[in-house]
Order: sequence, then structure tokens, then C-alpha cells
Amino acid sequence: MTERFSPKVIPLVDLRAGTHPLPPASVLPASRMAASGSVSDTLGRHLRDLRISVTDRCNFRCGYCMPKEIFDKEYAYLPHSALLSFEEIVRIAQQFVNHGVQKIRLTGGEPLLRKNIEVLIEKLTALRTTDGRALDLTLTTNGALLARKARALKAAGLHRVTVSLDGLDDTVFRAMNDVDFPVADVLDGIRAAQEAGLGPIKVNMVVKRGTNDQEIIPMARHFKGSGIVLRFIEYMDVGATNGWRMDDVMPSADVVHRLQTELPLVALEPSSPGETAQRWGYANALGAHDQLAGEIGVISSVTQAFCGDCNRARISTEGQLYLCLFASQGYDLRSLVRGKATDEDLASAIGHIWSARTDRYSALRSTLAADTGGGARRVEMSYIGG
Ligand code: SAM
Ligand code: SF4
Ligand code: SF4
Repeated sequence: MTERFSPKVIPLVDLRAGTHPLPPASVLPASRMAASGSVSDTLGRHLRDLRISVTDRCNFRCGYCMPKEIFDKEYAYLPHSALLSFEEIVRIAQQFVNHGVQKIRLTGGEPLLRKNIEVLIEKLTALRTTDGRALDLTLTTNGALLARKARALKAAGLHRVTVSLDGLDDTVFRAMNDVDFPVADVLDGIRAAQEAGLGPIKVNMVVKRGTNDQEIIPMARHFKGSGIVLRFIEYMDVGATNGWRMDDVMPSADVVHRLQTELPLVALEPSSPGETAQRWGYANALGAHDQLAGEIGVISSVTQAFCGDCNRARISTEGQLYLCLFASQGYDLRSLVRGKATDEDLASAIGHIWSARTDRYSALRSTLAADTGGGARRVEMSYIGG
């Protein structure tokens, strides 16, 4: 039986002291917990999915994520020495895989800005699950550098990509990214990823009511029949800088309703347990799913919590482990890998931290004060990764 998690705090250095509001928690449990290929938290959720943020920097300034007024020239990004090295990332990832992780997503900030990201991908492809299977290795990108990098990413062993794209109209898109980046370049990136075989590709669109919701139908028409799954994401109250208001959220039910007026849809079964998106297929004249036309997804992070199945852990750019997108505190794995911890120590710490996990912010959102994540300031999406 797993012993109750009893953290022993070890000395640590917050490299972002003065600039980063989060007090990192570093833990080295007193009792040993070996990795057994499966670990569940207090709510019976198994650890399966690991998201690794490889940089806190980005070439876009999407208002819902890195608003320009905050992420300006004065903003103190992490110094290079604070970032986990590729070797450190792989060492940590290996222990997560030993605990049952089957899927790794690289994210950021903008992950394609991390120098030599292909080298990291190559190293991660060598990892195997406890029963000898390769991992599902993917990456989320804003697509700005994808046209240039798609082939190298594929050659390094990346399986697929998810591209964020908030509209097709060039004016709307330039306003959404807030750096005047043209939509045509992202569309070129998506094409390059398709040609390189980085599929099945998903495209994520964050819908902000009154800002880009007029793009819902054009986006659906554009990707229908392309083999690309378009997913509409509810604008979330992540971080503490985006000025989130419920009025700006377009509930998924409204998105589906709007689509149905022009593009009939049929509900589809989830393709895997813990899937965050609800799937809808384009209907044919008989009202059945038209496989060639494909499907869309809606991710109702605000209006319909999916915490009950949440099997995701997140590692920030500087090696903090976060158990929830809305967490205000992480667990300092970097101090373990840079200290004297053995792989077994690391595995034990991860196992204990996950076993004690209680997080279910979205399920509790309506009962929490609007700006709290258990009382403290929440971590930014660009730091923790989406
Ligand atoms: N820069 C990459 C990108 O944009 O794809 C990867 C990192 S980004 C933080 C990951 C995902 O989080 C993107 O799909 C983005 O749209 C989403 N995201 C960021 N802030 C969000 C918010 N407030 N609500 C919903 N989704 C958000
Ligand atoms: Fe950058 Fe992605 Fe955040 Fe947009 S959503 S600012 S592209 S990290
Ligand atoms: Fe998972 Fe936290 Fe999101 Fe719930 S709120 S689904 S626990 S990340």
C-alpha cells in the first residue's frame, strides 16, 4: 500500500525570485515508491499524459495567453540556465513513462522557438513504455515556424502536430496574435506538416465571443474534408493576466448550435478514455456520419468540466511539476535532477506527488472565487504549457 505523502522540503532556489509570483514546492518523500507502470491519484485517475513546456517565450501575443501589456520588453523571461536541458527533460520524462505515461506533448510558449528542438524529439523517441511500446509524441505550435521546420520535425521522429489557429480572416487573425502575423503563413505551415506526414493534424481555435466567433463557420468549411480535425476551445480563465470574463466565453453548446445551422452534425463516441474533446461528425444526407467530410471537436473546459478523467501532468520550462492547469504551485523536479537524486528518488517523488493529487479546478470553478486557484495567484499558460 502507498504510504501517505509526507513531503520533506529540500533547499531550493527560485531563479525567478522577484519576477515570478509562485513559490515552488520541492519535495523528496521520506518513503520509497517504485514506478510500477501505473499510478493513480486520490480520485482514481491514472497518470497517462505528460505535457512539457520547453520555453516560456513566444513570437505571438495572443490576448488570452500573453497579453502585450504584460509580456512586453520589460518582462523577465527565464534565463537559459533555468531551463531544463534536453538531458534533464529526457531523464524526467523517462520516470513519468515508468509510471504509465503513454503520451508526451511538447508545448510552451512557442516550442518551435526552442533551439534544436529536433534533438530533444530524437531523444524522446527512444523512450519506451514499461511494456515496450513507443510513446505517442506530439507538439502544439502556433504554426509560425512550421513551414520551415515540418520536415526536420518528422525526420527527428515527431508523430503529429496540433496547430493553434484562431481565424481565417487575415485581419481577425492578425488581431488575435497581436503581432500582425499573416494567416497565410500559418496555413502554409499546416500544409507543410501535412506533406511531411505529421498527421493526423489537429487545429485548435480558441473562441472569444465578439472577437473571433464570426470565424467559426469559415474555419469549419475550410477544414471540412481535409483530414484535419478542427477543435473549438472555450476561452479559459487560466493565469492571472488575461482579464478573463465569463461574458467572453462562447460555450461549446453555442458553437455546435451555430455550426448545425449550416453544417449538420452527428454526435460521435469518444475515441479514448480521458479525451478532452467531444466529437461531432459531419452528417450526410441520411443523417449518418460522412467519414470523408470528417469531424470537429469541442473542448468545453469552462462549461463542462472533464476533471473526472484528467490524466495529465505538466512540467514547466524550469522543471516544476504541475498537477492542474489552474494550479498555483508546482513541485520542483529540477532541484532533484540537479541535486543528488537518483532515478529511483525521482520516480519515487513523482509517484508520491501524483498519488496525493486532488486537483479538479474546473469541476469546482463555480464554487471558487473568480481569481483564485486555492487562494494563490495561478501560473501562466505560457509558462506551464497548454
Ligand atoms: N504556442 C503554442 C500554441 O499556441 O499552440 C503552444 C502553447 S499554447 C499556451 C497551447 C494552447 O493553449 C493553444 O492552443 C492556445 O490556444 C491555448 N490557450 C492559451 N490560452 C488559452 C486560454 N486562455 N483559453 C483557452 N485556450 C488557451
Ligand atoms: Fe504564444 Fe501559444 Fe500563448 Fe498564443 S497561445 S501567445 S501562440 S504561447
Ligand atoms: Fe485537469 Fe485541472 Fe483541467 Fe480539471 S481543471 S481537467 S484537473 S487540468
